[in-house]
Amino acid sequence: MKTGIFGGTFNPPHIGHVHIAGCAKRGLGLDRLFLIPANIPPHKSLGIDAASPRDRLEMTKRLAACIEGAQALSLELEREGPSYTYDTLKRIRACLPEDELWLVVGSDMFLTLDRWHEAGFVLRMASVAVLPREAGEREMLCGHETFLREKFGARVRILEGEVLPVSSTLVRDRVGKGAEDLVPPGVLEYIKYRGLYVR
Ligand code: ATP
Repeated sequence: MKTGIFGGTFNPPHIGHVHIAGCAKRGLGLDRLFLIPANIPPHKSLGIDAASPRDRLEMTKRLAACIEGAQALSLELEREGPSYTYDTLKRIRACLPEDELWLVVGSDMFLTLDRWHEAGFVLRMASVAVLPREAGEREMLCGHETFLREKFGARVRILEGEVLPVSSTLVRDRVGKGAEDLVPPGVLEYIKYRGLYVR
């Protein structure tokens, strides 16, 4: 089976996540996609006004419900300390020894990959699929792909797809001021029900 692993803060999930998931599923022919909210993201700060892990998991489940073959996993939320992809991949590899594993990332995370905890092991355990987040990034991504291949033997696919300039930061700023089009309906319903991100 071809399995995609898509981690994030999902604070909250948005249509950009749906978009990259679709590009990865189509481009790689994934059989399934795991959506994995981080407990303590090692590469960015969650901020004091972040939704709780429980809320982020519930919203990630609602995101999964709109992507065929996707499933939200809570394994990083159940682990203490920084949510290293290295630990997550080891767990998944142990459960699914035969699967072809693909890490799915946007360009911002892709460009930090060489500095991830145990980057060499991460890039040996899984191939990487990346989608640009901004126009004009492809050349830079190709350069980084070459660097990762030469340094770590990484296997990288740069996905085809439009750039969709939506982020959780934008959604948090827009709650109450027209975030409706930026998040899946189930996620929006939950944000309203819990009164999240109201400033
Ligand atoms: P924030 O604005 O809070 O930093 P974010 O929008 O980057 O959040 P995350 O949940 O941290 O959302 O992102 C998870 C993964 O999804 C990352 O690999 C990120 O690059 C990717 N991603 C997020 N939005 C997009 C998008 N619009 N297009 C492509 N990839 C995206």
